[in-house]
Amino acid sequence: MSFPALDLDLDGIRGRVTPNFGLDAVTWFRVGGPAQALFQPADADDLALFLQRLPESVPVLVIGVGSNLLVRDGGIEGVVIRLSAKGFGAATRLPGDRIRVGAALPDKRVAAFALEQGLSGFAFYHGIPGGIGGALRMNAGANGGETRERLVEVTAIDRSGRRVTLSNAEMGFTYRHTAAPDDLIFVDAVYQGEPADPATIRAAMDEVEAHRERAQPIREKTGGSTFKNPPGHSAWKLVDAAGCRGLMIGGAQVSEMHCNFLINTGSATAHDLELLGETVRARVLATSGIRLDWEIKRLGIPLPGETVEPFLGA
Ligand SMILES: Cc1cc2nc3c(=O)[nH]c(=O)nc-3n(C[C@H](O)[C@H](O)[C@H](O)COP(=O)(O)OP(=O)(O)OC[C@H]3O[C@@H](n4cnc5c(N)ncnc54)[C@H](O)[C@@H]3O)c2cc1C
Repeated sequence: MSFPALDLDLDGIRGRVTPNFGLDAVTWFRVGGPAQALFQPADADDLALFLQRLPESVPVLVIGVGSNLLVRDGGIEGVVIRLSAKGFGAATRLPGDRIRVGAALPDKRVAAFALEQGLSGFAFYHGIPGGIGGALRMNAGANGGETRERLVEVTAIDRSGRRVTLSNAEMGFTYRHTAAPDDLIFVDAVYQGEPADPATIRAAMDEVEAHRERAQPIREKTGGSTFKNPPGHSAWKLVDAAGCRGLMIGGAQVSEMHCNFLINTGSATAHDLELLGETVRARVLATSGIRLDWEIKRLGIPLPGETVEPFLGA
């Protein structure tokens, strides 16, 4: 499956456009169809200019390192934007024990930079495999820490190419969610740290790492936690109680190690994974009466005849 070429005005644009870019190459699940066009801007000014020029009718979607995405097999229409480490990967120390980090910087690198600077509060990022753009959109958190607790403000570019700044309050963070408008592409963020002894920070990071190794299938092709924890419940316990641990559809499997993780065992399609997820939701609903919500972002279009009904039409 491939899309027709988009007619783009690239005069003066320094970034790179790749038509029909296979997104399976950049998602953790290693599945998904092509982006009609992938744009990798050179820097924030380049991104702003590109968006100003782009006709309003062309859909735009930004992705990070793809660790929380299920891209459907038919791909994504319009332009998919991916920020490069070169243009969006800087980290600098600011006065007042703050740091400014680019949105393409991996969370792990932010934790390491804070350690170098003798600033605590970022050890939880050591265990999250995404980048800062995704962490801001998902309010990523782990091991007792969350993005919203450390964030001061975010710089973003909107669909018309205008630069905007949002405070922590304006981001409207809730559990694994922000209320910031969907069209915003985050380009950098300022965080507040707390001065601390580097040995103490390192110990906290080691603890985060050890916990991951014990509890999560981190070396598999996965998308992280599939479902949000419903208030007062753990998603994995509900999935387990519904008898879904190890359940397989095609090449997709509910992890034996942590049953809120889905795994591509090698040959899964996005359709297999989505069908497995909806099968799990249907079984959890039947056994517990609880409706699980997807935490993983499902994007794009299915191949013809492969639409998956929520809760399998229940
Ligand atoms: C093994 C494993 C373990 C994980 N453990 C955790 C965990 O403990 N805690 C946790 O919170 N998450 C966890 N995750 C999920 C994931 O790593 C986080 O949600 C991460 O923040 C996603 O970042 P990403 O760069 O991969 O974003 P993507 O998955 O590429 O995108 C996620 C969302 O962010 C949006 N987005 C990405 N970049 C930008 C940007 N620059 N501007 C605006 N929106 C943007 C995308 O449009 C999409 O909606 C885990 C994933 C895996 C595979």
